[in-house]
Amino acid sequence: MAEIYYDDDADLSIIQGRHVAIIGYGSQGHAHALNLRDSGVDVRIGLAEGSKSWAKAEAEGLRVLSVADAVEEADVVMILTPDQVQRTVYAESIAPHLTTGDALFFAHGFNIRFGYISAPDGVDVAMVAPKGPGHTVRREFEAGRGVPALIAVEKDASGNAEALALSYAKGIGGTRAGVIKTTFTEETETDLFGEQAVLCGGVSQLVQYGFETLTEAGYKPEIAYFEVLHELKLIVDLMIEGGIAKQRWSISDTAEYGDYVSGPRVIDPHVKENMKAVLADIQDGTFAQRFIDDQDKGGPEFKELRAKGEAHPIEATGRELRQLFSWIKSNDDYTEGQVS
Ligand code: NAD
Ligand code: MG
Ligand code: MG
Ligand code: MG
Ligand code: MG
Ligand code: MG
Repeated sequence: MAEIYYDDDADLSIIQGRHVAIIGYGSQGHAHALNLRDSGVDVRIGLAEGSKSWAKAEAEGLRVLSVADAVEEADVVMILTPDQVQRTVYAESIAPHLTTGDALFFAHGFNIRFGYISAPDGVDVAMVAPKGPGHTVRREFEAGRGVPALIAVEKDASGNAEALALSYAKGIGGTRAGVIKTTFTEETETDLFGEQAVLCGGVSQLVQYGFETLTEAGYKPEIAYFEVLHELKLIVDLMIEGGIAKQRWSISDTAEYGDYVSGPRVIDPHVKENMKAVLADIQDGTFAQRFIDDQDKGGPEFKELRAKGEAHPIEATGRELRQLFSWIKSNDDYTEGQVS
């Protein structure tokens, strides 16, 4: 069983004794910065000149500097820009200002695992990766709870990198929930696989196919939306509380029997073979190379796929229906945080 660290296993004073630069103020960046500040840690934000995040961070009372100046001042640098720009930001504005004794932190191992960034001698390289979206990391912290996190040490130049990472994890609320130690390789490969095969790619495709099947058969799109998308959250909540078993216990016997006989028909053994192929592409760097090559050209494939997804009929149905829900607040303003 993996060892899990809680608040009592971490010493908050270690990170309180350091000067932290959070590079980027998006989903993870705002959560790390605000949680650390509220934990009594000295924090500054590093952003590109002209960034739209600049005013947002200042509005929270945070000090914002250029990336270079923030790194210069700090001795712990957490890189929370999008993965695809990290190597450029690192080479231009971070690496020249790192000195012996500094620590370079990540929330995902992509750039270290696939060799896009390598830190100079004398600098600790570690990861604190919350296993949840940034907005949840902030919301849970404010509610007195935390989101579970992974920590990993790639390079322990100081001999104290793990204690520092654990202390940082405590500062953002991770040890309130539980922190597990991993490696950059394990975190990167499993994170990419989870989001591609199951959480994001797998679920999105499953929901779209379900919606298409029902609407093509002549059922109302609003009814299809409820059956294949809206109820998903209720099912997932039960799984989180008590596993697949609790979800099956709560649903009707009719639903449970249908789960057993039709689930393996829809998600048949070919799907597992496909998953293995996806994992192989992650492990040998094929996926990383394809993503970065496309990003280096300005992301034409990425933009085309995003537009295609947004044009799927389930989105229009959902937008209309959500307007009518009394219990979901400002549900369609999700693009608001996505500034650069
Ligand atoms: P994001 O897209 O939400 O935010 C990126 C931030 O970086 C923005 O503030 C943007 O202004 C800034 N930025 C962009 N280009 C920049 C540049 N050239 N110089 C300086 N700043 C720049 O990013 P995110 O989703 O929070 O992801 C950050 C990291 O956290 C990634 O490594 C990601 O894999 C990891 N992560 C994210 C989540 C999540 O909830 N989104 C969860 C776990 C780990
Ligand atoms: Mg410095
Ligand atoms: Mg993840
Ligand atoms: Mg990820
Ligand atoms: Mg139903
Ligand atoms: Mg039952």
